[in-house]
Amino acid sequence: SPADIQAGHTAYELDRKHVFHSWSAQEQLQPMNVIDAEGSWIWDGEGRRLLDFTSQLIFTNAGHKHPKIIEAIKQQAEKLCTVAPQHVNDARSEAARLITELLPEDINHVFFTNGGADANEHAVRMARLHTGRRKVLSAYRSYHGGTHLAVNLTGDPRRVPNDDDAGVVRFLPPFTYRSHFRPDSAAQWTPEQETERALAHLRDTLVLEGPSQVAALILEAIPGTAGIYLPPAGYMEGARALCDEFGVVMILDEVMAGFGRSGKWFAHEHFAIEPDIVTFAKGVNSGYVPMGGVAMDDAIYASFAQRMYPGGLTYSGHPLAMAAAVAAINAMRDEAMVENAARLGAEVIGPRLEDMKNNHPAVGDVRGTGAFWAIELVRDKATREPLAPYGQTPAVMADLVAACKAKGVVPFINMNRIHICPPLNTADDDVRFGLDVIDEVLALADEVISV
Ligand code: PLP
Repeated sequence: SPADIQAGHTAYELDRKHVFHSWSAQEQLQPMNVIDAEGSWIWDGEGRRLLDFTSQLIFTNAGHKHPKIIEAIKQQAEKLCTVAPQHVNDARSEAARLITELLPEDINHVFFTNGGADANEHAVRMARLHTGRRKVLSAYRSYHGGTHLAVNLTGDPRRVPNDDDAGVVRFLPPFTYRSHFRPDSAAQWTPEQETERALAHLRDTLVLEGPSQVAALILEAIPGTAGIYLPPAGYMEGARALCDEFGVVMILDEVMAGFGRSGKWFAHEHFAIEPDIVTFAKGVNSGYVPMGGVAMDDAIYASFAQRMYPGGLTYSGHPLAMAAAVAAINAMRDEAMVENAARLGAEVIGPRLEDMKNNHPAVGDVRGTGAFWAIELVRDKATREPLAPYGQTPAVMADLVAACKAKGVVPFINMNRIHICPPLNTADDDVRFGLDVIDEVLALADEVISV
C-alpha cells in the first residue's frame, strides 16, 4: 500500500543515518529495502514484487511467512517467550531430538548457539579440549563465519584483514573446475586425479604440521559462498580416513549446505562418511529467529560428561528459535521440501543451467545440486580466465543485478559468480521464470567479453 511504501522510505532514511551494515564501506552502500515478503517473493521499497533467488542469505529454506513456523513462534511467545539456558525447555528438548534424529546414529547431543559462526567457534573449542591439541586445518575457498576464530577459519578475501594467530593452518581443497593440482602439462585431468592429488596434499599438510598438534579438520560439506563446488568422488571419504588415521576430529560445517539446501537433509549424506561434529544454522528454522548449533557424536560428548565444558551463551536454545526449528523441520518433512529441492535441481535448474553454459560465451561453468547452484563467469571458456581476478567483483555484476531486479528477480552474487538458491519449496514455474530472467541478462556478460 502507499502507506507501506511511505513507511519504507522513512526506514531507508533512518537506516542510512543510524545503521552500520556487515562487510561494507558504509557510505558506498545502497541497501535494498524489503518491505514485505511471502513464500519465495519479496516486495522492495517501491512496492515491486521480486522473486528471491537468494533465500535472503541462503536461509529461508521454507520461504517467507510459512504459516506453521509463524504459528509456532506466536504460540511459544505466549506460552514462554524466553528462559535461561540452564533450565529445561520443552521446545529445546524437541528441537534437539528432531535434529539428532536426522544425523548419524552416534550423534546424539546438540549445543545450541546464536548462529553459524559461534557454532564453528564452539565446535573447534570442543575438538581442542577433546584432543588436547591446538591446530585446526581449514580449506582455502571456504567461509565459516565473521567472529574471531570463524573468520580465521575462513578461506576467502574477507579473512585477510582479520588475519591473526588463531591456530589455523590452511590447505587447498579439490576444485575440479579451477584445480590447484592439475599440472600445466596435463592434457586431461579427471576428478579421480583431482581427488588423489588433493588428498596427498592434505596428508602432506597434516604430516608436515605434526599430526600430534592437529585437533580438527573443518570442511564445509559443500562449500557455499566460496562457489558451490562439490568435492570430487572419494575426497570426503579420504579426508575422513586421514582424520581416523591421525586422531583428528572431523567437523563438517553444514550451516549453508544443511537442512535440505543440497537436496538431502545434510550435504554430507552425498558422501559415505560420518562426521564427528556437525555445525548448522540458517535453514534449521529458515532464519525466522537467530539460532545455530553444534551436534556432536558420543565420543566428543563423553569428553564433557564428567568435566565442565568451558563455554556458554545466554541465549543458547532460546525458546522462540527452538519452537521455530521444530515447526520448520516438521513442515519441511510433511511438505517434502527436501525431496522437492532434489527434484528442482535434477529436473529444472540443472538442465537449464547446462543450456546456458552451452549458449553463453561468458558462462564458463555451472554446478550444484538441489536448490544450491552457481554460474561462473569467464573471459575465455578455453583458458577459464575469470571475468575478474580472484577477490575482485567484475564491474558488470552490478549491471547484472540491476537488470535482474528490473525484470523481477533478486540474484545472489559473489565475485564472478551468480548463485541460484531459491527457497526449497519454490514453485517450478517461479523457478523457470527466474531462470528465464538470468538467461536473458547473461547477454550483458557476453557483451563485456566480446569487446
Ligand atoms: N558457515 C557457513 C558455511 C556459512 O555459509 C555461514 C554464513 O554464511 C557461516 C558459517 C556463518 O554463519 P552466521 O552468519 O550465522 O554466523
